[in-house]
Amino acid sequence: MRARTVSSWLSRAFLLIVAGLKFGKLFGTVGTMLISIGAYALVFGWRYAVGIVAMLFFHEMGHYIAARQRGLRVGLPMFIPFAFAWVKLEDTPHDAETDAYIALAGPMLGTVAAIGAYFLAREHGMSWLMAVAYTGFFINLVNMIPLPPLDGGRITSVLSPRIWLLGVPIIGALMFFHFSMILLLVAILALPHVWTALQFNKDDVANAQYYAVSPRVRWEYGLLYVGLIAFLAYMTNEVDQQLDGIGRHHVEQPDSDTV
Ligand SMILES: [Zn+2]
Repeated sequence: MRARTVSSWLSRAFLLIVAGLKFGKLFGTVGTMLISIGAYALVFGWRYAVGIVAMLFFHEMGHYIAARQRGLRVGLPMFIPFAFAWVKLEDTPHDAETDAYIALAGPMLGTVAAIGAYFLAREHGMSWLMAVAYTGFFINLVNMIPLPPLDGGRITSVLSPRIWLLGVPIIGALMFFHFSMILLLVAILALPHVWTALQFNKDDVANAQYYAVSPRVRWEYGLLYVGLIAFLAYMTNEVDQQLDGIGRHHVEQPDSDTV
């Protein structure tokens, strides 16, 4: 009897802890979102701040949904003001195609959200929302640079990790022309992946298994990757010009001064 009471208490306590952890995670997402919105709002105004965090949220939910589709455990998105947001994969993808699928889903849903913001902004003549759309396209475009930890690196790994070496001059040029602490952080995090790319041997048994992808799938990802970059580059430029036409008020990109 007593043992049963203790065990029922224990199981209740356990359920409470589980509920608490779930709430904690949710609080982490909502809390870091609010902190991010507050930080952006101080610099750009609250409407733009909400819009930008929404753009990040849709991008991250793309990764989240794709990971769940593939049966992987994944945490809800977390946000760091003026830097980035992320979802943490609790399980490691078993092969390059799964990794690429999850990586591509972020920029895909992020782009859909930016398109939504773009049309809403055009329909109602809202320049702040046009600025949100611009930042949405821009963030997703930068994420397509083919070098991990950026999404583009994980998408292109399905073709070959050697492609990551193409990302090095791109990051280098960006750092040279528009230095920011975020870029520096990305560059530091990318270093081990550059090393992997330099040493990559496709005939290695573990590599041969992990990167075993049919030519058709390679083509599909390759085309989607190039197509999405072309679209994002076009839209970033297009919206940039429209904003110039409006005479962009408070809508500059966060740069090294505001990081
Ligand atoms: Zn992403």
